[in-house]
Amino acid sequence: NSAIGILALQGNVPAHARMLARLGRPARPVHRPADLEDIAGLILPGGESTTLSQLLQGNDLDQAIIDFARHRPLLGTCAGLILMSSDTGDARVAPLGLLETQITRNHYGRQRESFIATLEGGSFAGLRAAFIRAPALRARAPLEVLATHRGLPVAVRQGRHVGCAFHPELGQDTRVHEYWLDLA
Ligand code: GLN
Repeated sequence: NSAIGILALQGNVPAHARMLARLGRPARPVHRPADLEDIAGLILPGGESTTLSQLLQGNDLDQAIIDFARHRPLLGTCAGLILMSSDTGDARVAPLGLLETQITRNHYGRQRESFIATLEGGSFAGLRAAFIRAPALRARAPLEVLATHRGLPVAVRQGRHVGCAFHPELGQDTRVHEYWLDLA
């Protein structure tokens, strides 16, 4: 029952920690490469992807996370998904290249257009998902689509890595975290 790391440079860290606590998994904040050493997986939370990208590079975490991801699973939510992609659609956000997908940032509009929707299809059908300035993503092989909203992919898996356009750490539904922990 080893700890799960949560990237803690910026963004929505406490809600992920609460979700892990509900599932009985210890959580550990990750600020620097050494923090990656004894964790079983890493969560990249939502936040602001241009800021997160700069902070990753400033703390030498970008290459360290790419190396970590060769053997252990990552879960990226919203801005975390943008960072995990192979094409962020924005020159200011360097892609980590862990999910072969192309992103359109802020696809669903601005903060005031945030909404909660019931997901369709796949593993997380019926989940009430919060979309907060969420990105859109292209999903084709080797990505597996885990959930859609209005026909668009909003949760995907590639190997042991999972990316969500929405915020699975908000609300009561633990299915996304549980699913990802099972891949570890
Ligand atoms: N719109 C933000 C970005 O592009 C992501 C929003 C979020 O993580 N909730 O960085």
